Amino acid sequence: APAAKATKRAKAATQAPAGITSPDRVIDPDSGITKGQLAAYYAEVAEPLLAWLSRRPVSLVRCPQGRAKHCFFQKHDSGSFGDHVHHVPIREKDGSTEPYLYVDDAEGMMACVQMGTIEFHGWGSMIEAVEAPDRMVFDLDPDEGLGFEAVKHAAFLLRDELAGLGLKSWPLLSGGKGVHVVVPLDASAEWPAVKDFASRFSRALAAAHPDRFTANMKKVERKGRIFLDWLRNQRGATAVLPYSARARANTPVAAPVTWEELRDVETPARWSVLDGAELVKRAGSKALRGWAVARQALPAA
Ligand code: ATP
Ligand code: MN
Ligand code: MN
Repeated sequence: APAAKATKRAKAATQAPAGITSPDRVIDPDSGITKGQLAAYYAEVAEPLLAWLSRRPVSLVRCPQGRAKHCFFQKHDSGSFGDHVHHVPIREKDGSTEPYLYVDDAEGMMACVQMGTIEFHGWGSMIEAVEAPDRMVFDLDPDEGLGFEAVKHAAFLLRDELAGLGLKSWPLLSGGKGVHVVVPLDASAEWPAVKDFASRFSRALAAAHPDRFTANMKKVERKGRIFLDWLRNQRGATAVLPYSARARANTPVAAPVTWEELRDVETPARWSVLDGAELVKRAGSKALRGWAVARQALPAA
């Protein structure tokens, strides 16, 4: 049986879903992972990914020639994605309206992958109510050289401070260097109020623990500290979506974990696109069902 299982896994990893061209193109030179393997991963995790990706304005990180070559963020419809990738008109600061990308099914998601997408980043709001976020994200960005233990410690501290304000939160391994602390919201407040809360919360935490945190995005302020990146919580900002792959060495993925699990995790790149089956199984597990799902309002000032 183990042999059959291994064969099945190898097959799943090499068989590209229909409609994916150049499946043998290596997209990550560090691991040799191909576009076909990436597409197979996305086909596998479609359901848990779409729970976050569907009907949200998205920014795609596209690397048509692989992550070692040119990659770019794309947020507007270029008209080349086909019928399954939709656009939602969103007002810009200057008053004009631009078509932002969104998908609402696996076909749309795979069309993005076919176009060289490696990463999916989402707004904190849904297309039906772009002005009212249903999610706040604290992106913990450690200074170079700070270990993951320090990031974990910071994440637990945020969890406790948020809980003190009546807010439940969940940790997301970014797949890169940090953790995102995700706070689901009931979409009863609009962007300015959410940004204001995130800013005040982060500044207060940095003031209370100046040795460990900064709420200032300037790199020089980060020296040996963790930047509490609250700027993910302003209108137009995005954060990597749960189950998105990352265009980084060995193609890790952004992975939901429980607070209990976080204690033992040793790296934010714990899972990669080769772990699709395990991630799907985890997503359906009792511990992770209901991850970052809660209807909660920001506390009154
Ligand atoms: P890490 O844990 O390594 O920091 P990350 O996903 O948190 O991974 P950041 O550089 O901290 O990476 O960026 C946070 C988020 O900001 C990203 O997930 C992305 O959605 C958004 N972002 C970063 N750079 C850009 C950019 N050039 N254009 C648009 N959005 C960006
Ligand atoms: Mn980050
Ligand atoms: Mn950041």
